Amino acid sequence: MEKETLPYDLILVGAGIVGSLTAWFARKSGLRILVLESAIDISMGSSKANSGIIHGGYAEKTGFRAALCYPGRLAYPELDTFLHFGYRKTGSFVLAFTPDEEEGLHTLLAQGRKNGVEDLQIWSRNQILQREPRVNPQVRAGLFCEGAGVASPYELVIAAMEQAVQEGIVLQLGSKVVGIERDARYLRVQVEESGQKKEYKTHFLVNAAGAGSGQISELVGDTDVNLSFRKGEYLLFRKGSGNLGPVLFQMPTALGKGILVTSTYHGNLMIGPDAQNDTDPEDTSTSIPSLTTIFSEARKTIPDLDAATLIRSFSGVRTLDKSGDFVIAPSSVEPRVIHAGGIQSPGLTAGPEIAKIILGLLKDQGLSVQISGGEQNRKPIIRKKDLPLPELRDRIDLPLGDPRRIVCRCEQVSEAEIRDALGRGLPVLTTDGVKRRTRAGMGWCQGQFCRPRVAEILREVNKGADILDTEDVVHSGVSRVRREQFKAAMKDLEQ
Ligand SMILES: Cc1cc2nc3c(=O)[nH]c(=O)nc-3n(C[C@H](O)[C@H](O)[C@H](O)COP(=O)(O)OP(=O)(O)OC[C@H]3O[C@@H](n4cnc5c(N)ncnc54)[C@H](O)[C@@H]3O)c2cc1C
Repeated sequence: MEKETLPYDLILVGAGIVGSLTAWFARKSGLRILVLESAIDISMGSSKANSGIIHGGYAEKTGFRAALCYPGRLAYPELDTFLHFGYRKTGSFVLAFTPDEEEGLHTLLAQGRKNGVEDLQIWSRNQILQREPRVNPQVRAGLFCEGAGVASPYELVIAAMEQAVQEGIVLQLGSKVVGIERDARYLRVQVEESGQKKEYKTHFLVNAAGAGSGQISELVGDTDVNLSFRKGEYLLFRKGSGNLGPVLFQMPTALGKGILVTSTYHGNLMIGPDAQNDTDPEDTSTSIPSLTTIFSEARKTIPDLDAATLIRSFSGVRTLDKSGDFVIAPSSVEPRVIHAGGIQSPGLTAGPEIAKIILGLLKDQGLSVQISGGEQNRKPIIRKKDLPLPELRDRIDLPLGDPRRIVCRCEQVSEAEIRDALGRGLPVLTTDGVKRRTRAGMGWCQGQFCRPRVAEILREVNKGADILDTEDVVHSGVSRVRREQFKAAMKDLEQ
């Protein structure tokens, strides 16, 4: 086994929201910090496939989940001014359609006030319809949260890690932690990288491994993180379909916040997720029965949903600890290890607060880590554009290498933008990696036109490297319901 001789001060396991924001806040500490990520890219776990809502902070009753959501939400506007990952304050409604649900709004309002949330109000039917005319007119009332919003979660992870790496933090992709040994001086972290075993030494370790956080807890030798998994499926509609103002929730259930209807940060209508208990953490497939049920339930919120504008289905897997809360604490057997496991919803919203707590715990254990905010303004990769058709046509056929060439026609992504995304210090070896950074392949044709063109640039930039030029899900054998299958299923149901 290859052993790296110089020890790290800190190893972060997992490059999702928690690992990346922890790296970002710690980036100016002058410490040797290594991030180990088992996947081929960052943000490949829950942080990739979720609702992207920056929640109000009224829905959770106890523990970290109740305490961290509201302060996390308040951190977002400023975080976006530093990192420009894509955040918009939209407001949100929880809608009540029955007298019982109306009663429930008052319970949520009281819970919100208990959690310190200040911008909640109960709105009447007329006020709601005036604000959002597409809402089902049978609505009786709604809980409005003014400061809720939407964000692009994987762009946040990418932006935070990009700056962390530019400040000297080391990121190792394709590096799965498989063993942790401890002695008085070091933690010895064994990983598998491209089929080879390797060992890194560190003084401290953070377990931010999402669905793998239970396994990391076992490797340390404790039983502090005990996970189960709950899948949620979504439907995503074409660009421009998300002409909604606020995020629209139905009443929460025992399994979560229920089916929501929202515009994504980039203006696609999105509906979901359902809640399927005890699923396999690797199972991100979608199915006709789940998607048709989600669609029918979402029509209770917005009756005019149009199945014909679907572009894709996807799913994400929630990682739940048996405590019902986030586990953020030093390991009960090894205080040099800090667990941040079972980070279910609202982990995106609470992410900035979770990261600061982790760094505070590391400080308590003796690591001289500093928490730094942002002062550099990271330039966004994705910019809004609306090229006139003749210009778009002219630029599509420019030669490879011309920065003005339009590579993805649906989302009007230029070659300059793709090369910008590839030149920011993070390895990108997949066409889906380019898609998450630039939106090339996110449009109506779902990459049929641009994927080979993106792969061509990837091969040129990463000379000699293996490039994955199929969708991640196709590569991993995950089956997803396609547009035509869904439309046919809805047609059958409606006949
Ligand atoms: C369906 C769904 C909807 C959600 N909606 C919202 C929402 O609207 N708002 C909100 O606030 N929150 C939401 N959440 C919650 C939010 O997405 C999560 O809390 C957050 O993404 C968790 O981030 P994480 O960094 O802990 O985990 P992850 O993003 O899963 O990252 C963990 C990383 O660790 C890596 N890893 C695992 N094992 C190992 C190992 N052995 N070695 C090396 N690396 C390893 C994984 O590859 C992964 O990249 C939702 C979650 C889901 C699933």
